[in-house]
Amino acid sequence: MTDCIFCRIVSGQIPCAKVYEDDHVLAFLDINPLMPGHTLLIPKKHVETLFEMTPQEAAACGAALQKVAAAVFKGTDAEGMNILQNNYEISGQEIFHVHFHLMPRKSGDGFKVPWPAKKYGPGEMEAVLEKILQAF
Ligand code: 5GP
Ligand code: ZN
Repeated sequence: MTDCIFCRIVSGQIPCAKVYEDDHVLAFLDINPLMPGHTLLIPKKHVETLFEMTPQEAAACGAALQKVAAAVFKGTDAEGMNILQNNYEISGQEIFHVHFHLMPRKSGDGFKVPWPAKKYGPGEMEAVLEKILQAF
């Protein structure tokens, strides 16, 4: 896909600070990092969201994710790590080529994931569980 920034990075048309590469996966530093070492991991094949990936493609990303996350964690002397993957605009996805954000965390880094936890009303948990189970 020539109009996709991440496909252009894969093909070498746009440079990147490469962190990791194998046959199926590329990882590179985010150009606008939330903190030093903020890394993006992508499948080399253009796929818009997680839902369009084959199990094999998802597995290749999963295996590389663990390996790259460990190196980013160690290499940045992190104390923790958030991994985020946005699907569709509502979730904050801006580049429509699957990517995982690897965000190494340190105390005092000022980064906070909003987490406005709620409570289920009567029967709500059972109802949503039933719908999810029927969707497999
Ligand atoms: P999204 O909001 O889609 O989950 O995240 C897209 C990410 O891609 C953003 O964090 C943004 O900084 C990063 N990004 C956008 N364009 C480029 C680019 O040309 N090179 C690199 N390395 N990162 C990019
Ligand atoms: Zn692409």
